[in-house]
Amino acid sequence: MKSKLLSRILRLALPLLLFASLTAGAAELPKESRVPGGIALVPVPGDPSNSLAPTVIFNTHRVAVVRRDDQWIAVVGIPLAEKPGELKLKVSTPSGTTEVPFRITDKSYRTQHLTIKNQRQVDPNPDDLKRISTETQRSDAALSKFTATDAPTLQLISPVEGVRSDSYGSRRVFNGQPRNPHSGMDIAAPKGTPIRAPAAGVVVEAGDFFFNGNTLYIDHGDGLVTMYCHLDSIKVKLGDRLERGDLIGTVGATGRVTGPHLHWGVALNRAMIDPALFIGMK
Ligand code: ZN
Repeated sequence: MKSKLLSRILRLALPLLLFASLTAGAAELPKESRVPGGIALVPVPGDPSNSLAPTVIFNTHRVAVVRRDDQWIAVVGIPLAEKPGELKLKVSTPSGTTEVPFRITDKSYRTQHLTIKNQRQVDPNPDDLKRISTETQRSDAALSKFTATDAPTLQLISPVEGVRSDSYGSRRVFNGQPRNPHSGMDIAAPKGTPIRAPAAGVVVEAGDFFFNGNTLYIDHGDGLVTMYCHLDSIKVKLGDRLERGDLIGTVGATGRVTGPHLHWGVALNRAMIDPALFIGMK
């Protein structure tokens, strides 16, 4: 009777243990969502016993590649502006270069109407436009970084406690005028709430930006770069090496905002993707 019970318990528990180990393996990667603003996990050719990963290029940007089970997987950030249909990766291995196609489907995002008190933050003057142009270049350089590592860590924790909006991808209309779609996640929290590094990385850009207010950028390696906007205070400086959980700044309301919150952007191969895919919200 006892052994029967034991074998029943084992029969029930074993699949659970197996499931737990499978999901633990899957948790190393963000959630896949083959839509504009999402992530595609694409198996690519290459000898998995080789310690050198194949080089993968998408839209001229290098892509993170991880080894999972007995395969190389490209973790591809899909730009919000990408059209549904077939896309192609360029994959280079010691035996040559090939194209690997993958498909994405459409996703419709909402439209958000926002009212900004300072009209200049909607219609910048010529001096502002000069400043914005310089800042856009700095931001683009930071978000385009690809620092190769031996073992990509593509796991992030939420950088701040607070109310997470699901407004990623929304078309935005400020004071009646259409502007760029929302390329990150807004997390509402009181001014002064601590913001923590969601993974190890290096501070590669920081400053006071016209639209984004006090902003900083962290390079986590392999084309994963995160950005933090509207901070009240920045607690790190350029070149600082961070561990997951390190204090990097506090929530504020600097730049073009309607109230205190963290705007959190996540770039993968330069594409600003939906951060929710990294923190188990989707
Ligand atoms: Zn935002």
